[in-house]
Amino acid sequence: MIKDDCIFCKIANGVIPAQALYEDDQFKVILDRGPASKGHALVLPKKHFDNVFSMDEDYTGKVFTIAAKVARAINEEFGCDGMNILQNNNEAAGQTVFHFHMHIIPRYRDDKVNLVWEPGEITDGQIDEYAEAIRNRLKKQ
Ligand code: 5GP
Ligand code: ZN
Repeated sequence: MIKDDCIFCKIANGVIPAQALYEDDQFKVILDRGPASKGHALVLPKKHFDNVFSMDEDYTGKVFTIAAKVARAINEEFGCDGMNILQNNNEAAGQTVFHFHMHIIPRYRDDKVNLVWEPGEITDGQIDEYAEAIRNRLKKQ
C-alpha cells in the first residue's frame, strides 16, 4: 500500500506535511516543488503505484475527474492561457519520481514550458498493422 522509501507515499499520506489543494480518501493534490509554471500541481494516489501500468482501475477512473476539477480552479484563479494535463511513465518518458502522479501544468502565452515534438511519419500499412496488433492485445486484457 505505502512504499517505505517513496517520497510521494509520504506526502500523500501525511508523513511529510504538504499544502493540499484537494484531498479525499484515495488522492491528495499538491503544488509541484519544482514548478514548470505558476500553479503546476500534482495529483497523487495515496496507494503506491509505480506508474499507470500497475494502477488499479478504480484509481485510473477517478484520477482524471480530480485533475479536471483542480485544473478548472487553477485556470479560474490564475487566468491561464492554456493547460496541459499529463503524466509520465518510466524513465524514457521523463518520469523521475516512481509513484504515479498526474501533472496539471498551467500554460501562459510566452511561457518557457517545452512539451512539443516533431511530427513523425507513418504509412497506411503501418497504421493497419499497429492498430490490429493493439486491438489484439486489448482483447487479451
Ligand atoms: P516526473 O518527472 O516524475 O513526471 O515528475 C516529478 C515531479 O515531482 C517534478 O515536477 C518535480 O518537481 C516534483 N517533485 C519532486 N519531488 C517533490 C517533492 O518533494 N514535493 C513536491 N511537491 N514535488 C516534488
Ligand atoms: Zn509511493
